[in-house]
Amino acid sequence: MARPLLRVDGVSARYGAVRAIEEVSLELHAGDLLLLAGPNGAGKSTLMKTIVGLHPTDGGEISFGDDQIERWPAHRRARNGLAYIPEGRGVIAELSVAENLDIAQFGRAWTPKRRAEVLERFPVLGRALRRPASTLSGGEQQMLAIARALASGPRLLIVDEPSLGLAPLIVNDVMSLLKDLQEQGQSILLVEQRAAQVQHVATRTLLMREGRISEAPEGASFAEMDFASFASSDTDSLGAG
Ligand code: ATP
Repeated sequence: MARPLLRVDGVSARYGAVRAIEEVSLELHAGDLLLLAGPNGAGKSTLMKTIVGLHPTDGGEISFGDDQIERWPAHRRARNGLAYIPEGRGVIAELSVAENLDIAQFGRAWTPKRRAEVLERFPVLGRALRRPASTLSGGEQQMLAIARALASGPRLLIVDEPSLGLAPLIVNDVMSLLKDLQEQGQSILLVEQRAAQVQHVATRTLLMREGRISEAPEGASFAEMDFASFASSDTDSLGAG
């Protein structure tokens, strides 16, 4: 099998004395839309932050493409093709839509051609370029965050809890967009608590609870399963991704 695009191998991380994630391993192959599901406080966001360089690892290795990156600063990982949309989206409310798109300074990647391509994909943003981002709906703000992340032409898009604060119908729109992007070749790592609503877009699903990760059992469906009962079952014995 081809070398994975992203490989997390035995990574731990802590906040002071508290271990938030414990020897976590996962692999994501180019073209995947990997869903990382799990309840509140499982360690999903901490894992994403260790991958993009916003939280230090406490042991373990992370490789991205041909590089071992766990000691690289966040900006170097971003330049190398890792795009991260944090929980809460990171949109700057006071700035206009255009300023939100332009401010990130994507260097040579952010050409007028690239800008036009991004706006073509997000017509709602094209129509709102001069409006403050604060006047967009939650769903539109999520679109802006995704558009901004795509502007750099990332090799991997990491989206943390995009459904947060959105109505179910709008969540479906965001998921359709992510699925379209994946079908056009974009690799995506999606973190979600609302697994039942989003699992259908994933090419693969991993479960995280209490700082550990496991593969979803073959044919597992969150729609048929109470997530709380999942959290109390012995998923650790299923083996790491
Ligand atoms: P959520 O979906 O609620 O964000 P999560 O799965 O992303 O949950 P994390 O935010 O990664 O989980 O949190 C993992 C653990 O680390 C939790 O026990 C949490 O309380 C703890 N934690 C997270 N951030 C901090 C922090 N800044 N300081 C101390 N402990 C933290």
